[in-house]
Amino acid sequence: TDNLLQVNSLKTYYKTKTGFVKAVDDVSLFVDRAKVLGVAGESGCGKSTLVTTIFRVTPRNAQVMSGEVKYKGQDILNMDLKVFRRDIVWKEIAYIPQASMDVLDPVYKIKDQMLETILEHEDLSKADALERIYKALENVGVPAEKADMFPHELSGGQRQRVVIAMALLLSPSMIVSDEATTALDVITQAKILELMKSLQENRKFSMMFVTHDLSLLANISDSIAIMYAGKLVEFGDVEKVFGNPLHPYTQLLLKAIPDLRYRKQRRLVAIPGFPPDLENPPKGCRFAPRCPLAMPICREVEPEFSRVEGFHYVACHAVNKK
Ligand code: ATP
Ligand code: MG
Repeated sequence: TDNLLQVNSLKTYYKTKTGFVKAVDDVSLFVDRAKVLGVAGESGCGKSTLVTTIFRVTPRNAQVMSGEVKYKGQDILNMDLKVFRRDIVWKEIAYIPQASMDVLDPVYKIKDQMLETILEHEDLSKADALERIYKALENVGVPAEKADMFPHELSGGQRQRVVIAMALLLSPSMIVSDEATTALDVITQAKILELMKSLQENRKFSMMFVTHDLSLLANISDSIAIMYAGKLVEFGDVEKVFGNPLHPYTQLLLKAIPDLRYRKQRRLVAIPGFPPDLENPPKGCRFAPRCPLAMPICREVEPEFSRVEGFHYVACHAVNKK
């Protein structure tokens, strides 16, 4: 198959004093080679838990209850952690974490942080590594001179560009980005998105682009995954999910974007009600309490996540499955 990354029936829960927070609860999806998967859903639906599980950087109280994550067919959750960090992280999959601008250490110059990333993984002379760093910065629109600066001497947009340059330093096959543009103003956000898309097209890496803002995804994604309350509710080709959204939650998210042509404007999703408590989620469909189409069965039986037609999956009792 063309799947570079495959997540199968993944469950990641957080253990608390009172029980388990079911933050990722039976999620299955995949990212194809050289394609972009956009992942969207409201704050708290489990997006970061999904990506930190993939990167094996979850908080201490997180537990993978079941499921698997395969990268190029290899089970990366059960791989020796040292091997995973040496062979997969940065080299194969680079991760741009949420609040990634804070990842840059304030006491190190940009070039020193980048040098460390390269020299930890590759046997390269310092001069060659520096050469690569200057080029990497220029490729993301940051002048090479900035390499001698400290993070606080750069603007937010430049810092985000540096983080992207760092992610690309070892030419990974895949980038996972969690809210990479959220902290930026609207104009800078649009520029960074454009940059990421053009880098992705030129270098043909795969990308999993995670955001709470569905409107950002139309331009950059090949496929879309919509999460709600720890569950995947819809997954498919971008044309299908945007053009023919089937899950009532996706439909409402899209309605909250008045005009896709103006998608560069940041908009808040306004759906009546609140997402459920993930420690005690409702029986049946987790969206049922807020769903305008809810039927009695929705409050009793959890809908199956299944294929409608072609590359389009949905978990909803109201959708007629063929
Ligand atoms: P956002 O859009 O705000 O970044 P998210 O979709 O990334 O949200 P997560 O950060 O994955 O959501 O959180 C999923 C759920 O898990 C939330 O209900 C959150 O409160 C809970 N959670 C996150 N970290 C922990 C933790 N360490 N212990 C207990 N619960 C947690
Ligand atoms: Mg998050």
